[in-house]
Amino acid sequence: MELDFWHNRWQKGETGFHQAGLNPYLAYFYGEKGPEPDKRSSLKVFVPLCGKSMDMQWLSKSGYAVIGVECSSIAIKNFVKEYGVTIDEAKNERHVKYTINGEISDGACIELVQGDFFDLTEADLKGVTDVFDRASLIALPETMRKRYAKKMTQLLNTGNRTLLVTLTYPQHEMNGPPFSVTEDEVTELYGDNFKIEKMMVKDILSNEQRFQELGLTSLTETAYKLTRL
Ligand code: SAH
Repeated sequence: MELDFWHNRWQKGETGFHQAGLNPYLAYFYGEKGPEPDKRSSLKVFVPLCGKSMDMQWLSKSGYAVIGVECSSIAIKNFVKEYGVTIDEAKNERHVKYTINGEISDGACIELVQGDFFDLTEADLKGVTDVFDRASLIALPETMRKRYAKKMTQLLNTGNRTLLVTLTYPQHEMNGPPFSVTEDEVTELYGDNFKIEKMMVKDILSNEQRFQELGLTSLTETAYKLTRL
């Protein structure tokens, strides 16, 4: 899944991964069960491979600082159009950084970094305490997932938490993305450097007509909490 693949998808409007609503795991673990609202302003959530995810708006409106990285300028323009106004734009040799203010929200600004996730440095993610990984790790084929996990391990600091959402299905039944990621693989990718807690597992095939039509015979969604050691 090189960047051209994704630029193409955005150009053609093939963005089936985009969810119209708020991700339920995010709502549960960072809303209902999350930190008290007055503690949230000290938390900064990194959303890797963020697309134009609504989850970033929700995080910002809920009091968290947010930083996303996304390669597609179309995704970022669409996000700005739907959410607010760009109040700052800064370029370096690797990325363009936008600071976006919600027009109707009094939440914190959202920082969006346009460019390649693999070019991020620790300095770009200064202050990050949490990561929300939905459709990011699983957007990548196996060899890239190894690179991604290695990069994530380099970027994060001790105590940083990640909410990772994966899909698991018989990989031979469908070509990704999204790719199937098993619990064994999560352990292989992150086990040495993160404490891994499995928080929830759901059988979702009956709700996913699109994947039934593609021929899947089973499909589970798993939410993990990873804590950087
Ligand atoms: N997490 C988002 C989008 C998931 S799809 C959501 O839940 O809606 C994966 C996204 O990652 C796409 O928008 C694609 O353009 C972007 N992407 C893929 N590889 C990337 C990379 N190396 N750097 C930055 N963005 C990338």
